[in-house]
Amino acid sequence: MKLFETVEEMGHEQVLFCHGRNPNIKAIIAIHDTSLGPAMGATRLLPYVNEEAALKDVLRLSRGMTYKAACANIPVGGGKAVIIANPEDKCDGLFEAYGRFIENLNGRFITGQDVNITPQDVCTIRRQTSHVVGTSEKSGGPAPITARGVLLGIKAAVSFRLENKGLEGLKVAVQGLGNVGGNLCKYLHEHGVQLYVTDVSSEKVEQAASLYGAKVVAPDEIYAQDVDVFAPCALGGILNSQTIPQIKAPIVAGAANNQLENEQLHSQALTSMGILYCPDYVINGGGLINVYNEMIGYDETKAFQQLNNIYDTLSEIFAIARSAEITTYEASRRLAEERIAKAKSLKTKV
Ligand code: NAD
Repeated sequence: MKLFETVEEMGHEQVLFCHGRNPNIKAIIAIHDTSLGPAMGATRLLPYVNEEAALKDVLRLSRGMTYKAACANIPVGGGKAVIIANPEDKCDGLFEAYGRFIENLNGRFITGQDVNITPQDVCTIRRQTSHVVGTSEKSGGPAPITARGVLLGIKAAVSFRLENKGLEGLKVAVQGLGNVGGNLCKYLHEHGVQLYVTDVSSEKVEQAASLYGAKVVAPDEIYAQDVDVFAPCALGGILNSQTIPQIKAPIVAGAANNQLENEQLHSQALTSMGILYCPDYVINGGGLINVYNEMIGYDETKAFQQLNNIYDTLSEIFAIARSAEITTYEASRRLAEERIAKAKSLKTKV
């Protein structure tokens, strides 16, 4: 990989390679853009197949965080960090050393917990730096607010695509009944929606059937349900060349991260089929809104006010996509880039 060329192309401000011998640590912190505020992004720990794979991951994810924060309309920038290690090799010394690297950035980067990092690991990092956020001290965790954001996104999509003001009587297929999907089912049921659900856990689907009268379908049958909305709330990469041709719903709106296996190709495939896709990092922005509010001192009213932006931002994205004849994925990037450019021009004027 041509490092500086790639960084220039992707627009990163700073990429920090963290190395130490005792304890042995290899980590990469990528700060993509701080025009809107300090770069925020969780840290993941993985035994990447090679260093290039780790670098690609951190560069891609940190840029995604910039777009996510800009679309959520909160004053933070985009960053991400990866620690290259086996989960079995985790130890306090590793996280303390990592915490010192974050502290040296003086608040330009704020991190939290992602893949293979536990709340306990976050506490260990916190011994060395205050620039780390937990996710659930005051709010009770990000999942309920994320699910509320997805509900708002579904309302915006239904209004735009089906020209329908309410959700009553609509059919929604939910893939994955975990922390977010489970809450989403509850809210949709309260709105009079008929639910079609799937999960690899039989306990979870049975619960949804008994609580909400949901129709249970097999995991590989969820795509082809004759419903108004398909809500992916389980895994990434599930919108691909095998699944997209099966989708009958005119709307895809769910919480899962990185739903499109190939962002350009598969967002275009959905558009060509007349399916309105709600870009995942916009509709699931409630998680980031929750973390940001934890950081500034949690106030539920403020957090819910910010959450309401998801409806307006998605409506704006749908309108841009329609008038510019581009995909909603492309429109969301344009909108985020416009907001960042505006913040940059305001900064240079000061
Ligand atoms: P979770 O682990 O609690 O739930 C995932 C559910 O999907 C589980 O019930 C699991 O059994 C089910 N599942 C796994 N494989 C499946 C398959 N093949 N078919 C059907 N179901 C399957 O996770 P979560 O916190 O609810 O998050 C769900 C998605 O939303 C993830 O992609 C996550 O990255 C994303 N997300 C979550 C938040 C949040 O606040 N938790 C915020 C933003 C994005």
